[in-house]
Amino acid sequence: MSNGATIIREGLEQILRSEGIRITQQRVAILSALAESEDHPNVEELHERARKLNPNVSLATVYRTVAVLEEQKAIIRNEFEGASARYELASKEHHDHLIDVESGDVIEFYSEEIEAIQERIAKEMGYDIVSHRLELYVRKRKN
Ligand SMILES: [Zn+2]
Repeated sequence: MSNGATIIREGLEQILRSEGIRITQQRVAILSALAESEDHPNVEELHERARKLNPNVSLATVYRTVAVLEEQKAIIRNEFEGASARYELASKEHHDHLIDVESGDVIEFYSEEIEAIQERIAKEMGYDIVSHRLELYVRKRKN
């Protein structure tokens, strides 16, 4: 496990502990899998990854752990159309998503221009943006 991932895992452990949740070997495996994920796994994928680290990890424990982390805003739940919920660490830099409607691939992007336009629109309407999500559903160009 990389240094960065270890620090992330320890942070997640801290959050669970503060919620009164015991850090079992199962949970260490789940948190390690989360800390090492750079994509947007769903619960089943996370379960699969955690089981490679500890074959005893149950799907129920993954569900419960993910729910607590989401509640504590340590991870973000993405509800992309036509797919089950996909998770990522909330500590990642802000970005938006492209979702390939054919392959289901999720691609991250960030645009200064889009961020600025959104700020401007909200401001013109008398608001400050608290948060936003932008999802572009895309199909690969054939040419
Ligand atoms: Zn993302």
